[in-house]
Amino acid sequence: MIIVRTIEALQSAKEALGGSIGFVPTMGALHQGHLSLIQQARKENEHLIVSIFVNPTQFLEGEDLDAYPRKEDADIKICELCSVDILFMPSIDVMYEKDELCIGAPALSGYVLEGEKRPGHFDGMLQVVMKLLNLSAANKAYFGKKDAQQLALIMQMVKNYFMNVEIIPCDIVRDEQGLALSSRNVYLSIEEKQRALSLSAALKKATSLIRAGELESSVIKEEMKKILSVTDELEYVAIVDRNFQALHSVEIGNTIILIAARVGKPRLIDNLWI
Ligand code: AMP
Repeated sequence: MIIVRTIEALQSAKEALGGSIGFVPTMGALHQGHLSLIQQARKENEHLIVSIFVNPTQFLEGEDLDAYPRKEDADIKICELCSVDILFMPSIDVMYEKDELCIGAPALSGYVLEGEKRPGHFDGMLQVVMKLLNLSAANKAYFGKKDAQQLALIMQMVKNYFMNVEIIPCDIVRDEQGLALSSRNVYLSIEEKQRALSLSAALKKATSLIRAGELESSVIKEEMKKILSVTDELEYVAIVDRNFQALHSVEIGNTIILIAARVGKPRLIDNLWI
C-alpha cells in the first residue's frame, strides 16, 4: 500500500496502476461500516483507492469538526490489512484554495431533512466528493445507504455533471444490537448507547407495522415517536419517497424512513429502505 498526501503523489501512484479502480472516500476513524464498502470495492475492482479526509466545508459553525475522531495509525493498519493500493490522506491546504468555485445542493431534495437541519452541509459534501471523484478517476465509487440523502445527492451530481463514475450504494452495517455503526458512536456512554438503540428499534417497529398491513405514514410515525421519546432531542422522523418528498402512505419499493436524533453529545441518523 502506498500512502500519499499530495495531488502529485496521488497522480504518480495512480500511473503505476493499470485496470479498473474502485474508490472509497471516508473521514477516517474506520469501523466495520467503512470496511464493508472497502471489502466490496476490493472484490469488484482490480485496484482500490481509499481516502481519509475530515472535510471542513461540510461541518457547520458549532459542529464537531475539531472533536471529530481521528485515528490515523489504526486507519493505516486497517487499510493495509484490506489490501488497499493507495491511501490518500490530504491536508486541508492540499484540497482547498481560499476563493473557490462551489457547487450547490439542489433546491428541493437538498434542503429537506438533513439539508434543512444542517444548511450548507450538502454543499460542502458535494464540493469535496466532486474533487475526490475527479482525483481518483475511479470507475466505481462506494457510498453507504446510512447517509441516504448524501448518497442520492451524489448520484444526482454524477448524473447532472455527466461524471464518468458509477456510484455503488452499500447496505447499512449495524452492531449486534442493531445500532448503525458510526465514527461518532465512540462518544456514547453505556447508558446513552442503550437509548441510541431506540433508533433501530423504531425502524424495526415500522417494519413490523408495514408487514402487518399498516401503510399510513402518520400512524407509523406516531408509533416510532413513542420508542424515540428516550432520545435527548428528536430532530425528525420522516417517511419519504426516493426523492425525499413526504409520503402520506408507504409505497413499497419507493419509500425511505429516516430518523435524526441526538443522544448525549452525538447526533445520530439511521434509515430504512422499503
Ligand atoms: P464517513 O467516514 O462517515 O464520511 O463515511 C464514509 C462512507 O462510509 C460513507 O459513504 C458512509 O455512508 C459510509 N458508512 C458510514 N457508516 C456506515 C454504516 N454503518 N454502514 C454502511 N456504510 C457506512
